[in-house]
Amino acid sequence: MSAQSARRLGGGSVRVFIACLIPVLITPSLQADAIQNVVDKVSVEQYRTYEVDLENMGLGLYGGPAYNQGRRNRDGWAGDGTLGNQEARLYLTDKLSALGLTVSIQGVYKNVVAEWPGTEKPQEIYIVCAHYDTTGGNERPNGSERPGGDDNASGTAGVLEAARVLTQHQFRSTLRFIGFNAEEEWMRGSQDYVRFLPKDANIVGVINLDMILRPAWDKDPNEPNDLEVETLEVSFCTAWVQTFVAAATTYVPSLLIDPNSHYPLVWEAGDHGPFVYAGYPAFVAIENTADEVWSGNSNAYYHSAQDASNALANSPLSPSGVRYDYPFAANVVKATVATLALRAGLLPPADPNAGSGPAAPADPDVNPLPEARDDSRPAGSAGTTGKAHTDRRELEAVTVSPRPVPHNA
Ligand SMILES: [Zn+2]
Repeated sequence: MSAQSARRLGGGSVRVFIACLIPVLITPSLQADAIQNVVDKVSVEQYRTYEVDLENMGLGLYGGPAYNQGRRNRDGWAGDGTLGNQEARLYLTDKLSALGLTVSIQGVYKNVVAEWPGTEKPQEIYIVCAHYDTTGGNERPNGSERPGGDDNASGTAGVLEAARVLTQHQFRSTLRFIGFNAEEEWMRGSQDYVRFLPKDANIVGVINLDMILRPAWDKDPNEPNDLEVETLEVSFCTAWVQTFVAAATTYVPSLLIDPNSHYPLVWEAGDHGPFVYAGYPAFVAIENTADEVWSGNSNAYYHSAQDASNALANSPLSPSGVRYDYPFAANVVKATVATLALRAGLLPPADPNAGSGPAAPADPDVNPLPEARDDSRPAGSAGTTGKAHTDRRELEAVTVSPRPVPHNA
């Protein structure tokens, strides 16, 4: 019915007509409110609890005396890994199962994979991942104290907190939460996972969280505390990066993201790397670039016994006084949650009276970020969802830099 014919039908019909229009007009803001409500459930304190629990793996504090190796580390270098690695795997499995997720242990490297099936498009999969292993030190196989607080209890706790919040809701698409093992062996766990994916796996977005807790620099106090969002500059990845940046800008405005570092020369040193090589949209969220971390400029305690919340990496008594920044890390988790709620299709609660906050509308075409999402998308980009397979050809045309020295060297 057009506006003109409605006017001819008199006041009652006009009111009916306006009432019909209202859902169309306010749907985007209702959806935005619903997403904001989900984002705001991310808790700094719950995140910190997960992070501290994970850096203490290897003392048997979670799994009991059978996992006490007398020191904290989660080295996953071979077989079952250290007792700390095994305890962390138990912890992740238990925590994810308790959220109602279906959890499995995948592959020879024992990745922990948890699934939250989509209700309308279960074949379309979004992944949030982090590596739960640490370096083991020179004394392998026995290893040394490597609590891996920032690298990478910080990202693993982020996966748990994102799962805790997102599993309170239903989505059209499937969400998959993964703790990868043996990342410190040049991503053996994630390489194995990607190698054995079904050929028709429709993975439409991967967010890898790796070192998100210590954005300040030891050697430059003036360096801004911002987040790097990094991957290969190829359209199926750049569109996914832009989606994350736009979601963060809208729903987590206090999170600073470095706009100039999305596509560094060294882009592949993390569990996003194998996904990108296989043609899936993926990036890493990380506090500083690989060069900044490896040089020691940003993190003097990287891969050391001091990378823990009760050690020099988080101590006012260290030369720089740099501390872990839990609100910053929680903001990274919020941006992750916002991105997934936006793209995976947050659905309204099944019973409107049971939900907290406004019901989300169920229009799949509604996009609360209509302008930001498409900004700077390269011409010919396939967008953020469902087109990864056609875009894989682009990789063949990309010149990839030689692999750098592995991150634990
Ligand atoms: Zn790492």
